[in-house]
Formats: sequence, structure tokens, C-alpha cells
Amino acid sequence: MFTEDFVNTLPMESSLTPAVGRAPAQAPAGGAPLQHSLQKTHPLEGCSHELGFSQVQLSGGLPEYPVSEREQWFARAAAVMPYGVSSNFRYWGDADTMIVRKAHGAYLWDVDGKKYIDYRLGFGPVILGHAFPAVTQAVAEAMTDGNTFALTNIYEVQAAERFVRMTNTDMVRWTNSGAESTLHAIRVARAHTNRDKLIKFEGSYHGAHDYVMWSTPNAPLSALGSAKAPRAIASSSGIPNALNGMTLTLPYNDFEMLEKTVKDKHGDIAAIIVEPIMGNLAATMPAKGWLQHIRKLCDEYGIVMILDEVKTGFRIAPGGAQQFFGVKADLVTYAKAMGNGFPIGAIAGKREFMMTIQPGAVGQGGTYCGNVVSAAACDATLRFMEDNDVFGVLTTRGTQLMVGIHETLTRHQITHAITGVPSLFGVLIGTETPLADYRASKRVDDVLSRKINNGLRAQGVLVEPDYQEPWFLSYSHSERDVDETLEIFERVVASLK
Ligand code: PLP
Repeated sequence: MFTEDFVNTLPMESSLTPAVGRAPAQAPAGGAPLQHSLQKTHPLEGCSHELGFSQVQLSGGLPEYPVSEREQWFARAAAVMPYGVSSNFRYWGDADTMIVRKAHGAYLWDVDGKKYIDYRLGFGPVILGHAFPAVTQAVAEAMTDGNTFALTNIYEVQAAERFVRMTNTDMVRWTNSGAESTLHAIRVARAHTNRDKLIKFEGSYHGAHDYVMWSTPNAPLSALGSAKAPRAIASSSGIPNALNGMTLTLPYNDFEMLEKTVKDKHGDIAAIIVEPIMGNLAATMPAKGWLQHIRKLCDEYGIVMILDEVKTGFRIAPGGAQQFFGVKADLVTYAKAMGNGFPIGAIAGKREFMMTIQPGAVGQGGTYCGNVVSAAACDATLRFMEDNDVFGVLTTRGTQLMVGIHETLTRHQITHAITGVPSLFGVLIGTETPLADYRASKRVDDVLSRKINNGLRAQGVLVEPDYQEPWFLSYSHSERDVDETLEIFERVVASLK
């Protein structure tokens, strides 16, 4: 069931609509948290202390009422956290940035009490379901004896044994996030090869650190240069110019270009880091043999293959993309689904590469690495996967959803392609051909995608506004949830006419 051949069995085509470029992210005017006119009789005036407004400088005064809970909380958040969020990706504009109250199973409630069927799942981590009892109970029990010791604890050892068994790797080191995993894996690769440069692929995201924030999925397509001479575009101000040239960015799935680059520059290249499925570009799939091609080039030229399984690990198969695609990397990076939403990541791989980490010589670590809460969450999540048919359920429900979306769009004559696998898939509007790489995303009708995704959110189906972020499934999504989602999808698409 968990093999590459599976994806070729899904029906995936239809036709219509022209392609449009991506809309730029909305920025707040003047950096002010809210832009509303002052209402002198507003009931919140004078009550600013109880509501935490004492420090809030609303540029145009308080919002017009009725003031939603969301607006109140957003104003408080924006007063003390830039743009009211803890990560830029969560800022959808002053009027749309969501504030969450709670989540259970497949559902999430915003602070105004509106309920959503959640297909964002925290950008993928929540594989079993929100507040999943088997995980929260294990964490609650474990944490009564303390959490952080900066010493090896029994929970992390148990989790590590299960982790290497399921991923078929030799050894693992814990981190706290995906970015930390890729940062340290790249260092290990550099130390192992005594080379400095890195190859990554355009449109891939590997975390918010300086070595990989190049030509990510927000890079303007027009700035990337020719596919035969790609330019690496820094994805943020603040990344030192000195790093330009350290990370070579190439089109995904371009066998020839990769081979040529490796042949020309292999003496400098420490690692190739690759997402097995482009989890930040609508679950774009690797062409047949692409990962094996990278494996072969790495073997031939002594380059470390880093498979970034932060999105695919414990989501597309118990053994992740290595199992799904039948490829074995030297180092593999994980986070997200391995902890069902608790903050944990990992670097795992072959003993020879993992043992490059060496006290006093090659650094990897952090105060919270392997803490009890994260380790217990990981162990409980993986234990549940070993004891239950999690991946069978994900496959059944996800297939039902992919096929249902495909049928609805076909019925309404909207050109589309569905890409990815049942637990992680993308809906491309405006193109009937799946993308091969980031450059091909110019074919996608981003405007219509956003209309559909925002319409779904308004009706209680939570997906990311931006088509690049895939739909994620959890074990808690029931057949009824999927049926309800498809009914809402039909209504939203019909209403666009
Ligand atoms: N690698 C991939 C493939 C990702 O999708 C992400 C985040 O979405 C990361 C790394 C970074 O993970 P984190 O956000 O936990 O730092």
C-alpha cells in the first residue's frame, strides 16, 4: 500500500481556466495592528485594562462594534507580538489572522466559537488528531517526574529505539524543530566531507535558517533566472550576502541540470538536501527515479544525501519516504508528525554519518533536546502507529477526499490537478498537469485557489488560503467528516459561478 505506484492509480485530470501569478502577501499599512474608525460610544472604551488594551495603540481607535473576540485578541496580540503572530506564515492580514481557542480530534474552534474541520493540522504535525488521548495521557504521566535535566533520560532512550526501528535508520539525535534538524544535518554533512557547499531545490522549504532560506516558495519566479543558470534568491532580508553562493539552488526533478552541476562542482559540495515530496509546493511529487538519481550521484561523488522528511516522516508511511519510495539517504531530518504536535525533531541516518557528531569536534545539541515531554509524546505517537492501522485509515479517507474533490471540480469544469498522496495532497487550480518544479507554478490560478480556500474556511473547512500548503489528514478524520467536507466543497465551488 505504501509505495510509489499508489499515486499512479488516482484519477487526476480535467480542463478550463487560465493561469495567474501569486498574489503578494498582504502587509498592514504602517505596521499598525488594526485600521478601524473610532466609535466614541464604543463599549470597550474605558475598559482597556481588563481587556489588556492598556498598551495597545490602535491607529484609528477601537474597532467598530460588534467587536468579535477575534478582533479583541488580535489587537492584544499585535500590541505585543509583531503582527500578532509567532511565525510570519500565520499572518493572513489584520482582518483574517485567526486566533484559536481549542482543538480536539479533527476539529478546531476559533476564539469566536466557530468550529472547523481542520485540514491544516498545524502545517502537518497533528497526525493522530488534536489532543489525542494516547499522547496527552503519556505526556501528563511522564512530566510529573520533571522534564528537562540536560542529561540522558529513559523516555528518550525508549523513543529512540522505536524511532530507529520504524525508520530503518541506525541512530538518531533529537532536536526541537525541523529547522534545527536541517541546520545540524548540514553541519554534520560539511564536517563529514570537509566541503562547504549545499545543493537545494527551488520551491523547497527546509526551515527558517540562513543556509536554506534561498529560492523558497515565496521567491518571485521572475527573479530565478534561467533554468540552465538559476539564481539563488535570499528569502529574507537579514541573510548575510556572504552566504550567497554557499547554497546552489536548482529546479526540482531536473535530472540533467543536477548531474551537470554535481559533475562541475562536486569538489565543493557537501550535501544535497531534498524533500521527497515538495510539502511546501502543493505536494509536488518526485519524478520516477528522481530520488534514486540523487542517491546515485551522491554515491559517485562522495556527497551526503540529506532527505528532509519533516513533512513526510510518519505521515506517508510508518517508515516515511524512505519506505514509500524505496530509497535510503545518509542523513534524514524529521519533526512534525513524529510528536503529534509536541515540539520535537530528529536527525537520523546511517551510523557512519551519525557518528560524525563528536563531542568537542562536531557539535549538535541544545538544552531542550530529548526533554521528557517531547520524548514521551514521540514515543506514544509512534507506539500508537505500531499498534493501530493509522496509515490504512489515512489512505482510505484521503483517497475518498482526493477523488471527491476531483469529481466536484470536474463537474464544474474547473481545470485542476490533484497531486501528492492521501495524507498530504495539493489541489492545483488552473492546470491539468501536476507541477514538475517551482517554475511551473506560474500555471496555477492563485486567485481562484484563494477564493475556494477562503470560501471553505468561511463554511467551516480549514485549509491554508495559499494553495502551496497541502491538505493534511489525521487519523481522527472520520468518513462523516470527509462527506461533510465534500458537501461544503461542492457548495463553495457552485457559489463561485
Ligand atoms: N523542512 C520541511 C520540509 C518543512 O516543511 C519545514 C516546515 O514546514 C521545515 C523543514 C522546518 O520545520 P520547523 O517549522 O519545525 O522549523
